[in-house]
Amino acid sequence: MSLVTVFKFLFIGGIIFAVILLISTTKKTIKWKKSILLLSAYGLISFFILVVGILSRDEFFHEIEKKIIKKEIPNGNQERCSCTWSTLQLKKNDYALEHRPLAKKISNDRYILNEKMENKFLKKGYLVNVPENDGFGIKPLGQSKAILIPIAKKRLDELGRRFRAKISLKSERMSYFVISSMTRTDDQQKSVRKSNRNAATPGKSAHSYGVAFDIAYVRSGSKNCSYGVRALEEVLREMQKEGKILLCAESKCIHVTVCR
Ligand SMILES: [Zn+2]
Repeated sequence: MSLVTVFKFLFIGGIIFAVILLISTTKKTIKWKKSILLLSAYGLISFFILVVGILSRDEFFHEIEKKIIKKEIPNGNQERCSCTWSTLQLKKNDYALEHRPLAKKISNDRYILNEKMENKFLKKGYLVNVPENDGFGIKPLGQSKAILIPIAKKRLDELGRRFRAKISLKSERMSYFVISSMTRTDDQQKSVRKSNRNAATPGKSAHSYGVAFDIAYVRSGSKNCSYGVRALEEVLREMQKEGKILLCAESKCIHVTVCR
């Protein structure tokens, strides 16, 4: 349960509680003093729940960390290294034989034809929004949306976390990799294919199952982005070995399909 949901529950609960107390006091079944005391106690308990919730959430610290990143690395001083099949040494998984069938399987064959279908899947929870998280950023996406099926989001978060954990060099601690594409509907896929034949593979795409994302580059924490590229290469290799992701080349990025 997210902190926002807890806050909503406590807030609505507080209003209901206050109304009940107000009715009881006007009916004189409870004294004013006592109802004020009870309401204050509710407020105090809610405050403690929220404080404990905030302190125990990793996201809270990630948010702080992101703010530090923005402060420490002003735009322009960052160095970036592109992630392609020539800059990373990885083992390719065959697209037609591995990526596509496993994408179909893990998504329960929910192929996203158009925006209407995408919205329906979002409502049902088959797809979830993917915000930036520890270890990765998301480029402004034109022909795709920052959404994935829940297990794919989990793996992307895991990739980001493990990438960060690999970085022991203090000056590169703030490095992160950047996602350039996520879920594309079949309609979007067709228009990408029209504008750039190399950018999208013919046939059903893993991107239209909501299980794939592309990594375009690594942003350095200071000025040594190749350090981050090696860290990313290592984590991608590990997760591929663990059978969690499949990898292949795309024109200007590394394509990742989540398969477990
Ligand atoms: Zn891709």
